[in-house]
Amino acid sequence: MAQQEDVFKKIVSHCKEYGFVFPSSDIYDGLGAVYDYGQNGVELKNNIKQYWWQSMVLLHENIVGIDAAIFMHPTTWKASGHVDAFNDPLIDNRDSKKRYRADVLIEDQLAKYDEKIQKEVEKARKRFGDAFDEEQFRTTNARVLEHQQKRDALHERFSKALNDNNLEELRQIILDEEIVCPISGTRNWTEVRQFNLMFKTEVGSTAEGASTIFLRPETAQGIFVNYLNVQKTGRMKLPFGIAQIGKAFRNEIVARQFIFRMREFEQMEMQFFVKPGTELEWFQRWKQTRMAWHQALGFGAENYRFHDHDKLAHYANAATDIEFHMPFGFKEVEGIHSRTNFDLSQHAKYSGKKIEYFDPETNESYTPFVIETSIGVDRMFLSVMCHSYCEEQLEGGDTRTVLRLPAALAPVKLAVLPLVKKDGLPEVAQQIVNDLRFHFNCKYDEKDTIGKRYRRMDAIGCPFCVTIDHDTLQDNCVTLRDRDTMEQRRVPIADLRAIIEDQVSITSLLKKLL
Ligand code: ATP
Repeated sequence: MAQQEDVFKKIVSHCKEYGFVFPSSDIYDGLGAVYDYGQNGVELKNNIKQYWWQSMVLLHENIVGIDAAIFMHPTTWKASGHVDAFNDPLIDNRDSKKRYRADVLIEDQLAKYDEKIQKEVEKARKRFGDAFDEEQFRTTNARVLEHQQKRDALHERFSKALNDNNLEELRQIILDEEIVCPISGTRNWTEVRQFNLMFKTEVGSTAEGASTIFLRPETAQGIFVNYLNVQKTGRMKLPFGIAQIGKAFRNEIVARQFIFRMREFEQMEMQFFVKPGTELEWFQRWKQTRMAWHQALGFGAENYRFHDHDKLAHYANAATDIEFHMPFGFKEVEGIHSRTNFDLSQHAKYSGKKIEYFDPETNESYTPFVIETSIGVDRMFLSVMCHSYCEEQLEGGDTRTVLRLPAALAPVKLAVLPLVKKDGLPEVAQQIVNDLRFHFNCKYDEKDTIGKRYRRMDAIGCPFCVTIDHDTLQDNCVTLRDRDTMEQRRVPIADLRAIIEDQVSITSLLKKLL
């Protein structure tokens, strides 16, 4: 575990050192849970967004995009339930004065039981070797059964407390489980209180004329309030979807884990409108489609899992998370929710407008049901970084830090490196950049030894480098180096585009989805 934390720290500093992610307002020592993306980060982030956008809007004839404003009419948030119920249960430790989310403290405790069980399993696996039967061990070993029983009991109690919105019971669970504050190590806890996560601000130039509005805490509502506009102007027939990428804001209580939990972040959401009664079938389909999107990146199926929700929001009839194996455990990257007709009905009620669909096949009007897929760009970015970061031991005792980014997501696709800064080599290199820059992102670099330049490119995950040497002037060939294998081969300059373009394009990923 400690080792994993070390790796995570290294990833965070790598992000800063190589221009991926900086703390916000860094010269003023940063702002809690707010980050800026640097010159490489913005490219990687844009590529992630493009991969998502194209997989939705290009690959589905019945999905279109919108870009709604961050500010919305304040009644939106009454209708959606955010004003009354977008709360987190928070608890303070009186000794450390640190604030925690009560539900997260209990979830961490559940994870501890899982870890204990896993440890027993691993110990037994070592002891029994090939003869080990995990299933049998889990169902018969006394210690495992004891942990499992405690875990299940806690899980049941926790789910019930959440569903009943019982804050006293949440506190009691924390006391009964003897959960301590990680900072002070004490159990001196305050009451549990609800805390609304929406940021408020005011529109209007004079104080009297001003009215309170919110920074949107999710992009979804911008889609719901535009349902009629898009359906009518786009002549959309059910089932159809509306996709959107945009900023969202939440006043998160606990700022932890770098860009995993931010106060200003970006979401990629798609609301898929379907005929009532077909929603669970579509829910299953979207689960599979979204999992395939993640897995096409090649990070290994074992690093993903579905986590079905214990507490369904009152309007949802199914919900799951796609979790990714981060250095700090399996964590939610995306949520997939079957939201019934709750949002559209609420907006109809609060706006007084009829928000329905006329079904030409059955000649009836009804309020569509909705399946939502909602993924955080920044969490996706973090999962890509965590999986790609690698410290490699090389032959001869050397080490290198390499980001094994999927080539289609890499910020820079090709580095063009003249071996020396003279004899006409820079001119040839610059010409290659001038020709190829229309097709993918190229970077010219002539500073330092070639070895150092390779390392710099490895550290930002650049999949290809070409070196221009004196032979190039005679044979019009360059040395092409592969980031992952470090293999080098001679190729004609004229072939570079054909060799590289396919591998580094978003299309190469999209093709895996069909
Ligand atoms: P969590 O339980 O971690 O707070 P959530 O269940 O509230 O997340 P949703 O409301 O389902 O999250 O939002 C959809 C997605 O938006 C999440 O899967 C996540 O990727 C992203 N997201 C939500 N909150 C944040 C945040 N504070 N910082 C970064 N990404 C976020």
